[in-house]
Amino acid sequence: MARIVMKFGGTSVADLDRIKNVARHVKREVDAGHEVAVVVSAMSGKTNELVGWVQNMPKVSGANHSIYDAREYDAVVASGEQVTSGLLAIALQAMGINARSWQGWQIPIRTDNAHGAARILDIDGEDMIRRMKEGQVAVVAGFQGLGPDNRVATLGRGGSDTSAVAIAAAVKADRCDIYTDVDGVYTTDPRIEPKARRLKKIAFEEMLEMASLGAKVLQVRSVELAMVFKVRTFVRSSFEDPDAPGMGDLLNPPGTLICDEEEIVEQEVVTGIAYAKDEAQISLRRLADRPGVSAAIFGPLAENHINVDMIVQNISEDGSKTDMTFTVPSGDVEKALRVLGENKEKIGYDVVQSESGLVKVSVIGIGMRSHAGVAATAFRALAEKGINIKAITTSEIKISILIDGPYAELAVRTLHSCYGLDKS
Ligand code: ADP
Ligand code: ASP
Ligand code: MG
Repeated sequence: MARIVMKFGGTSVADLDRIKNVARHVKREVDAGHEVAVVVSAMSGKTNELVGWVQNMPKVSGANHSIYDAREYDAVVASGEQVTSGLLAIALQAMGINARSWQGWQIPIRTDNAHGAARILDIDGEDMIRRMKEGQVAVVAGFQGLGPDNRVATLGRGGSDTSAVAIAAAVKADRCDIYTDVDGVYTTDPRIEPKARRLKKIAFEEMLEMASLGAKVLQVRSVELAMVFKVRTFVRSSFEDPDAPGMGDLLNPPGTLICDEEEIVEQEVVTGIAYAKDEAQISLRRLADRPGVSAAIFGPLAENHINVDMIVQNISEDGSKTDMTFTVPSGDVEKALRVLGENKEKIGYDVVQSESGLVKVSVIGIGMRSHAGVAATAFRALAEKGINIKAITTSEIKISILIDGPYAELAVRTLHSCYGLDKS
């Protein structure tokens, strides 16, 4: 007997037939005698629709730009998960399973006050554990919790993954299964590269990089929580026959296990390739090359909640002027340019230039720590395809390269094959 948290993403609950299919997956685990809690996303496309509705409403004019009330955004977008949790509870009850739906506020899943991008602070798992022991299946609406203001707070896009891992940690589950529309974590997005291979295991650190560098198969925060609380997390498919052989395997279910690197016997140098679209580059030309100039640029950007990613500073020719280039999400360019404009005198630059629609491709692998030449291989492969590199950043286990948007897919496939990831 084990305690299992099962999470089903948007495509897995996209319509009533799929919800009934999800119920069969849950029934399999219940029939095997396990204690089960389920977390669901909204039907696929629903959250986008709800976000669109909010964005098309009239806004309040703020100090510098129009805004809407983030608490009301949350009130609207959290509703998608409420629907699927109720529908799945009904489907389970029809199969004779003792199931009950729960909204984030009913558990409660306590979050901070950052509406729209809230972080889970605390879940009291005792009541859930008691109900699970009594044989009740909780069907929890993902993506949401209760803020300190007693209002529903959502966890940022893809947040149901985080709900699931946080609940698994709170109820001390033996396993957290993330069911989605792919049967595991692949060497790269299988929608871009059909030759991508499914990984049997991937280390927490690598999955963290993959997710933060664009592989949206898991929300970044869910991987952080899995790593900190040592939650045994599997990514697996909801589209396989729920009763196929091996689907109920307790220790080795089909899919990809996210685990400690010690658990991975044959570590490759490169594990995967990720990409993030909609990056933008901003360059400040002829900046004064003096102490404090970086603080003058990035301080105000941070205060305005603009996420700066890659930063490149050129060496100045005469020691007095330099150029600084950095990237931000395309959606933040206008705001960033406004902030830089407002601080022009304090920073001291000549002109500012920007370019949107860029893509960041990244090579990830723990094996890089002990292998030289990984970056050179990437640069050579991209050069052979005529892909120009605009910026580079590296860490111990990743190399990120900024390129022009139209080359995204070619770059992903080129990097994927130059490390032999397409060969089993
Ligand atoms: P869900 O709705 O179940 O949460 P998501 O759409 O958020 O599903 O995540 C699953 C998708 O992630 C897949 O359909 C796939 O296109 C994409 N993806 C990106 N990178 C990877 C990867 N390395 N391995 C597997 N899937 C990936
Ligand atoms: N429904 C939310 C979203 O689309 C949360 C999730 O699916 O994880 O972002
Ligand atoms: Mg998702």
